[in-house]
Amino acid sequence: MGKVLDKKRLKEFLGKVSKGKELIAPVKRGTLRFEIININYFDDICLEGRPLFSIKKFFSPAKHDLLKLNLADKKKPFEEEKTRFKPRVIFGARLCDFNGLLRLDKLFNSKEYQDDYYKAARENTLLIGINCVPAPSKYCFCESMGLEKYYDLMLHDMGNKYYIEAGSPKGEALIMTLEDYDFVMPEIKCDKKLFRKDLTQYYDNPAWNSENDKCLSCGKCTSHCTTCLCFDVMDELEVDLKKGKRFKEWDSCQFLNFTLVAGGAIFRKDRLSRFKHRIYHKLQYFREKFGMDMCTGCGRCIEACPRLIDFTEVINKFR
Ligand code: SF4
Ligand code: SF4
Repeated sequence: MGKVLDKKRLKEFLGKVSKGKELIAPVKRGTLRFEIININYFDDICLEGRPLFSIKKFFSPAKHDLLKLNLADKKKPFEEEKTRFKPRVIFGARLCDFNGLLRLDKLFNSKEYQDDYYKAARENTLLIGINCVPAPSKYCFCESMGLEKYYDLMLHDMGNKYYIEAGSPKGEALIMTLEDYDFVMPEIKCDKKLFRKDLTQYYDNPAWNSENDKCLSCGKCTSHCTTCLCFDVMDELEVDLKKGKRFKEWDSCQFLNFTLVAGGAIFRKDRLSRFKHRIYHKLQYFREKFGMDMCTGCGRCIEACPRLIDFTEVINKFR
């Protein structure tokens, strides 16, 4: 059983939950995007549609510094950049966004692998979502991806009220004082489908060839993807060649130099092999390692692509 909240009280509820914390929510500024906002600007929050950029940037930013370099200081040539996270609340994200974090957790916050920045960001963030009924975009196909209930709270729009379901003890504590309500959260339905399958036998299938000349290798699909996480680590020195920094920056498997190694060899030279690699990573390799698809069916890579390349159409042809 969940709880119920009158819509008129949402600002008050959100104000209480985010007191002393940073509030991140979708706002319309030309395009719809997640931004840090003050609760006084509550009316700017827009829950219509899903932002084209996911919440990934709040956990693994496009660029961030790792070390300060000072090579002139022999005793301490580098100093680690410490990141302090103010507790924060992400409000109005979707189940695909939160399932994106579930995938990123496997790589950045597990026993095997740990990224201090990501771990601190996750531990300090409360996840409050909005249920996707109806599906917010024609590109969504999350219904095909078997997503999990992974959030602190999920709100469902019931007209004048929100039905609220807790997905964690933290979430339960936040809604304890609200009125009980007996309701079953409706499941998401998408018009778009992906017929998932074992892709091992389809690598050389001619259906891929239709995408051969379309892809521009621009990397928009990976930067917009809810789960793409590849990065590069680089050093940058000032003109005196003494001071500088080491930083981490998003990379993309769609770029030619992604597989460039010493000696000049490049393992995925043609665009089609890079495109296939992206899809195999999402729907095959990740599942083999972690038991779940890396794709959450958010449809962002299709919507953001300048050629509107839709990998689900290719996979569905394999039936
Ligand atoms: S699939 Fe689309 S977005 Fe991705 S690299 Fe190719 S052209 Fe760019
Ligand atoms: S591959 Fe495309 S549909 Fe799947 S999670 Fe990434 S952006 Fe979303």
